[in-house]
Amino acid sequence: MRYISTRDKGNVKTASQAILQGIGEDGGLFVPLELPTFSQEELLRMCALDYAGRAEQVLAKFLGDFTAEEITGCVRAAYTGGRFEEELPAPLSRLGEDCYLLELWHGPTCAFKDIALQLLPGLMTVSARKNAVKDELVILVATSGDTGKAALEGFAGVPGTRVLVFYPQDGVSAMQKHQMRAQEGENVCVCAIEGNFDDAQTGVKRIFTDKAFAGRMEKAGKRFSSANSINFGRLLPQIVYYVGAYCDLVRDEELAFGEPLNVVVPTGNFGNILAAYYAKQMGVPLGKLVCASNRNNVLSDFLESGVYDRNRGFYTTLSPSMDILISSNLERLLFELCGRDERQVSALMAQLQEEGRYTISAPMRAALRKDFTGGFCGDDETRTVIRSVYERYSYLLDPHTAVAFGVYEKVLPQLEGKTVVVSTASPYKFAGSVCEALGLPAAGEGLFADIDALHAATGTAVPAPLSRLRTKEARFFDSCPAGEMPAYCARQMGL
Ligand SMILES: *Cc1c(COP(=O)(O)O)cnc(C)c1O
Repeated sequence: MRYISTRDKGNVKTASQAILQGIGEDGGLFVPLELPTFSQEELLRMCALDYAGRAEQVLAKFLGDFTAEEITGCVRAAYTGGRFEEELPAPLSRLGEDCYLLELWHGPTCAFKDIALQLLPGLMTVSARKNAVKDELVILVATSGDTGKAALEGFAGVPGTRVLVFYPQDGVSAMQKHQMRAQEGENVCVCAIEGNFDDAQTGVKRIFTDKAFAGRMEKAGKRFSSANSINFGRLLPQIVYYVGAYCDLVRDEELAFGEPLNVVVPTGNFGNILAAYYAKQMGVPLGKLVCASNRNNVLSDFLESGVYDRNRGFYTTLSPSMDILISSNLERLLFELCGRDERQVSALMAQLQEEGRYTISAPMRAALRKDFTGGFCGDDETRTVIRSVYERYSYLLDPHTAVAFGVYEKVLPQLEGKTVVVSTASPYKFAGSVCEALGLPAAGEGLFADIDALHAATGTAVPAPLSRLRTKEARFFDSCPAGEMPAYCARQMGL
């Protein structure tokens, strides 16, 4: 299986090269030359496997230049080493008659990013070996809150790697900030930027595509790579849990094989929902893919109108990991929607760069609407959803998942059959917002006051990785203007 860039189909890589490099030299994103597929028999056989077994099957379809042993080694290290509660990275919970929650936050940082970022360091290390890369891999991360910590946890202590995380200083929750700043390990670094997530992501992309910078790095025996979902190695592990959710529901006789299953995804950078789209293209019988946005509803407007327009106010919301106006992975979807026409993709991306907006063609719009629908929830609605779901089902939703559930309820009249709502974070990661939504009295001072209040009021368990942070001190205090990210990065690299 080879990979090509969405902006230049002549730019061909092996899987390991695409993972190592993270983003195309041309600014495009790597996608498989051809999407592999699953036969019905293969899917049925996977119903009998555990999570790691399914992950091996899915990865084998994409990682053409990896051996079966290499894949098994990476998968077992990520999913069977006690990193996920009860070794179940993606359990389902039923909520009402026709709805399930896919809980993706039982890993070390309590958000779904762990599922990919526990695996990616293994994939990268193997990729470096295969390509005889001796350079130190410097993983540059722009984070809206959760990717940063998950990348730090994934790469901390991994030989031959270093990770540098940039987060928007006022754009992440108090717990997210503490998780990152208290990270242990000698090969990690965390810096706040004066700007929002889009500024951080733009800064990181600029460093990646700066040839002179790459030259200086090379001389110093270092090279950049990406742990953001622009890296196909981030998306691949996410395809697994869509296959897995379908298989689990068939195995548990909740779903007849072949019956469509709708998916609702709280969306920011369009990575998670794109993995669902890939799973559907590969033959998993998924129904509608519902894209849920918060007040930064650039994506739900796009689904409605075919116009992507980032020229609008940027809001800081209760669901910070979705506070994004430039959804990078949409580029991969556009590539498919226009029949893999690299010129159309390049033109649209140039327009986005220059004017901040583009309009897709009528055929692309028709293709888009065939699989996708969407909606959004503001903060007030999000709070109402958290409270009403808790009252109805005694189930706590984090604000991101609440956005998804709120959109699910809005689009329900358009859906047929059963639906899985993707639950992307533990409510304890956003305990302050959840307490407020439940109408609990204001907790005392300090980061853990809200966590304790939420636990006392609901009797739900505080995830162990968050409890362990109580005694950890912050180690990182740097901040810089977004425009100075390259200089900061150079200093950290000793250049
Ligand atoms: C990252 C994140 C999202 C958005 O996912 P994308 O793949 O960027 O669309 C949603 N919820 C949570 C909790 C996240 O951390």
